[in-house]
Amino acid sequence: MFFTEDFINYTWKFRLFDRDNLLTTDGEKIEVFSAGLPNADSGPDFHNARIRIGDTTWAGNVEIHINSSDWHKHKHTNDAAYSNVILHVVYRDDDPIVLPNGRKIPTLELHQRIAPELYHRYHQLAFGNPQFIPCEGSIRFVDDLTLRNWLTRVLIERLEKRALVVNAALEKNKGDWEETFYQFLAANFGFKTNALPFELLAKSLAQLTLAKHKNNPLQIEALIFGQAGLLNEEFKDEYPQKLKAEYLFLQKKFGLQPIEKHLWKFMRMRPTNFPTIRLAQFAALIVKSNHLFSKIIEIKDVAQLRGLFDQLHIHPYWENHYRFDVESKPLSKSLGQTSIDILLLNSFVLFLFCYGKHNQQEYFINRSLKLLEKLPAEDNHIVTNFDSLGIKVSTAFDSQALLELKNCYCSHKKCLQCGIGNKILKMA
Ligand code: SF4
Repeated sequence: MFFTEDFINYTWKFRLFDRDNLLTTDGEKIEVFSAGLPNADSGPDFHNARIRIGDTTWAGNVEIHINSSDWHKHKHTNDAAYSNVILHVVYRDDDPIVLPNGRKIPTLELHQRIAPELYHRYHQLAFGNPQFIPCEGSIRFVDDLTLRNWLTRVLIERLEKRALVVNAALEKNKGDWEETFYQFLAANFGFKTNALPFELLAKSLAQLTLAKHKNNPLQIEALIFGQAGLLNEEFKDEYPQKLKAEYLFLQKKFGLQPIEKHLWKFMRMRPTNFPTIRLAQFAALIVKSNHLFSKIIEIKDVAQLRGLFDQLHIHPYWENHYRFDVESKPLSKSLGQTSIDILLLNSFVLFLFCYGKHNQQEYFINRSLKLLEKLPAEDNHIVTNFDSLGIKVSTAFDSQALLELKNCYCSHKKCLQCGIGNKILKMA
């Protein structure tokens, strides 16, 4: 048999071994009242187990190994943390353990007590050669309730991890939700390729500064393109010339330092996604809607939320330009529906969740999950692969949960820690 200690650990935790007539290797009767709590820190594997051995009921620690001789290999012999282990659970007892004080540690040997089907299913998950995920042959047999419960849990894990990043930014911004939201929204406007320069731009240009010029779209555009480092050259077109003149004035007034122009990536992008176009859309959004964070707290309807990004008044110059001074065929540069939904997903859902967590208001957490259920599923190879395994992927709730599942569990073969894996291993 080939397995890791985690498997024995798992078998003990869920008591998935033959429990009839349990005896120590010395023939004393064992009764397990509680397997104990897994210990993620150093020290024995389980704390607070309650076990009767012979006539005595013990409360204490349990240590797990594949072979009992691993006790010495792992240098537990003279480690005081292991001196009060009440039971040593091993697959094979190849070297009975006696402590320096002469106490022999009671040992339970699981060899002959693990069902071949359990081992087989575990082996498939841990050592199979999957094309996509280790349980690809079994996941379709897992019941819907188990799937849904587990996907909800991993989705919350995903949002909680992201919330840590938001909280750190919120702290830097002295608790200012509007400013923090503006910075995250800006980074998301850069989508994957230009997220960093967008984020740096937002951090270099406070939302409050923009708010002061809200009624003057040219000044908003000048501030944004200027701080993006894209106005630091000679132009032939009138529009960028005007932007530059405005920016030089405002730069001096507010003591602004632009970011480096070279951070923006244009290569291998469709022109409609060029950062110049995204910056123009971002400027139009700032002109249209100030205090966006307050709006997401107020607006419940997904159509209204989408409406915040609809019909942005992008400067007409961009209708026939993708870059300054380079004319192109006329084309509308509005944000597409998919882009709007990605912005809602990455900014609005996250901030509703964070706000709810931060203020311990379940209402906002639920709204963020409901919003996910109203947004369409993303289209990527992970979603397509799960779909081909029979997993229904209808909304962004499903696709976000599956992304987390794949990246944080399946890819690391964490099937023993996965609710779906648990179900598969216990299937009759
Ligand atoms: S982590 Fe869970 S979903 Fe992923 S392969 Fe393992 S059992 Fe399947």
